[in-house]
Amino acid sequence: MLGKIARKLRILGFDTIYMLDTEDRKILDLLIQTKRILLTSDKELFYRAKKHNCHSIFINKNTEIENLVTIFSNLEIKFIDTKINCYRCSICNTKLKTVEDPNTIKNEVHQKVFENNAIFYRCYRCNKLYWSGSHIKNISLLIEKINKIL
Ligand SMILES: [Zn+2]
Repeated sequence: MLGKIARKLRILGFDTIYMLDTEDRKILDLLIQTKRILLTSDKELFYRAKKHNCHSIFINKNTEIENLVTIFSNLEIKFIDTKINCYRCSICNTKLKTVEDPNTIKNEVHQKVFENNAIFYRCYRCNKLYWSGSHIKNISLLIEKINKIL
């Protein structure tokens, strides 16, 4: 659940680190050093972070939409732009860059995808290509629903 949420947050432009199987101490050190916000479903870690005055959000709802609403409400975000500009790589969190000449990536995507999209983005760290495909459209629809609740 949190991995999926992390990927969505990155697509929405939030600088998001996803740490799996990491010692609590390491996570707490990172929080204290960087003033990042902790999203966790681990109650013990949540309270430990609070004790260190770290901004922490406890994620315990059953659905992704409820958990995203919890996060945005906690951050006092009242509106998320549904026009998603592919800011960050959903895999590695690196800021994406627009591919200046789409012809250079023509052979890397299906012909239909190439024909139906004018703008492509690339992560220059892991080389993944992004475009405003059905995945992004589904996230926009999810955000529309979330905006109605916020
Ligand atoms: Zn990447």
